Amino acid sequence: MWVFLEGRKGSLRDVSVQLIGEGRRLADRRGVPLTGVLPGHDVEALARHAIGYGLDRVVVVDHPLLEIYRSRPFTKVMATLIIRHKPEIVLYGASKNGRDLGGRLHAVLETGLAADCVKFDLDDDGNLDMIRPSFGGKSLAHILCKQHRPQMASARRNVFLAPRHDPSRQGAIVHEAVEISDADLDAKLLEFTEFVREGGARPDEAGIVVSGGYGLGDPKNFGMLQELADLLGGAVAASRKAVDSGWIPKEFQVGQTGMTVRPKVYFAIGISGAVQHLAGMQESGKIVAINIDPKAAIFEIADYGIVGNLFQIVPEMIQQLKELKARPAKTVEAVATIR
Ligand SMILES: Cc1cc2nc3c(=O)[nH]c(=O)nc-3n(C[C@H](O)[C@H](O)[C@H](O)COP(=O)(O)OP(=O)(O)OC[C@H]3O[C@@H](n4cnc5c(N)ncnc54)[C@H](O)[C@@H]3O)c2cc1C
Repeated sequence: MWVFLEGRKGSLRDVSVQLIGEGRRLADRRGVPLTGVLPGHDVEALARHAIGYGLDRVVVVDHPLLEIYRSRPFTKVMATLIIRHKPEIVLYGASKNGRDLGGRLHAVLETGLAADCVKFDLDDDGNLDMIRPSFGGKSLAHILCKQHRPQMASARRNVFLAPRHDPSRQGAIVHEAVEISDADLDAKLLEFTEFVREGGARPDEAGIVVSGGYGLGDPKNFGMLQELADLLGGAVAASRKAVDSGWIPKEFQVGQTGMTVRPKVYFAIGISGAVQHLAGMQESGKIVAINIDPKAAIFEIADYGIVGNLFQIVPEMIQQLKELKARPAKTVEAVATIR
């Protein structure tokens, strides 16, 4: 049982950590070891760290050309290792790179790939049951790959719980060589500039998410939510109805057909609480709902509910946060600790 590990700036990407947790659960049920595969450059320390999340061993392929993800060399490395070792199951995170890699590998290896899974199980024969939303989220599809190996799937981010790190956990680091040269490159790296997202942090990485729904009434009111998010050091997100109304791009959508978020605090502002929305945020640490309708479904899962007009409440919150920030440092620290 293998999981593909992605490093970023010397740390493991959160989706890789979540994948290790789920991989561990499945490997234990199958009674097999769990292996992480980490192609990269100078990643030995990262590989050691990864073991602490629950791996039995990490296969490292170290090469300067693997420092940054590029489709062809990573595909070559993974395909070579899979053909060499024949794992039964290989899991990827459904990040941009994980999706790209999985999609290429299933073609190269002539096996199946279930993308963006939200749940995994095993059937009576030990086959991986790969479960993902289908028909726009109206149903869940159970996908089995019985006739080809490896069974491959990508896992949706923030759906699986990240395991605790145990620095005392022991595991093996195995160095494997795969020949890579400039001829394997599809793109030459001249310069690397980090993409800076408009509108600040990504909702699926932020500790605080300020999410707006159709109750906002007008796209310009997302400006007010952005101001609140900036004051809290968080990110803005939205319901599908706000997205479908063209008020905010799809990449901000939370829910069954959007992204899954697990922030420490999730503000649902002018959001009714449809099940499809809850599917993407109900695992948040604390949920704060602001809605004018006391019967709104969102209050059923909210930890704190504010019944009232968001156009009065949100400006008041912004005002109070500004006042709080203007006060001496000690008070501001109290706000900062919830991040
Ligand atoms: C297959 C499928 C997949 C879907 N996937 C998703 C998904 O991924 N994500 C998602 O979000 N939805 C999804 N939906 C849509 C979902 O069913 C709901 O339609 C949607 O979540 C509703 O968005 P909303 O809460 O913003 O709007 P509404 O349901 O219209 O709610 C607006 C809320 O704002 C409140 N409000 C109005 N004015 C004020 C005010 N002044 N102050 C305070 N509150 C106010 C209202 O009381 C109401 O509760 C999906 C639906 C289907 C069928």
